[in-house]
Amino acid sequence: MDVRIGTTPDGQATGFDTRGACPLLLVSDVGRGKTTTARYLTRWWLANITRHAHVYAHAPSEWADLPDLPEHPDQLEEVIGRGCRPGTCLVVVDDIDSFDDDRVSLLPVGTRPTILTSRGGNSIADRMLIGTDVRCPGPVRPAHADPVEAAVLNGQGRSDWPIGTIAVIPDQRGPMDFPCHRWEAPAGRWMAVRR
Ligand SMILES: [Zn+2]
Repeated sequence: MDVRIGTTPDGQATGFDTRGACPLLLVSDVGRGKTTTARYLTRWWLANITRHAHVYAHAPSEWADLPDLPEHPDQLEEVIGRGCRPGTCLVVVDDIDSFDDDRVSLLPVGTRPTILTSRGGNSIADRMLIGTDVRCPGPVRPAHADPVEAAVLNGQGRSDWPIGTIAVIPDQRGPMDFPCHRWEAPAGRWMAVRR
């Protein structure tokens, strides 16, 4: 299922395909919606109660709406999801830049759906993803007064973003919005959403 997360400046829909193992790297400066988009996709994933997520974040309070709070990256000591049933597992790392090199190898990039957030630059995300097929949407604001963002929207690119970054205008969401799953609604009833 390709979950739409936004629209590129040229009007193309872009999203996260949960059927594949191609990692999604959300790239932007602080405050542009990386964590919000990652949370949205994680809640969407968890709305199917047969699935689960492994979330690592430095600021667990930003993920307080999940059934289980994220773990701190320092708690990661073994390969994520090795014992999990295929197709049930989503791995999320909020701020991959702060992951130390030793723990990057514990991520199942390329074998399970993975969402990473990064501030870009010469980051650990750039290094670990060299040669990997990765989608790199970069969330930007609809009102792009910042000249750097304007340059992105004009197709100028940004030297500190990984090659292949797609500038994305995220959908507007509130702090308590939960994903809707009409296709999972029981007949004759409104949707049931896991909280
Ligand atoms: Zn798992």
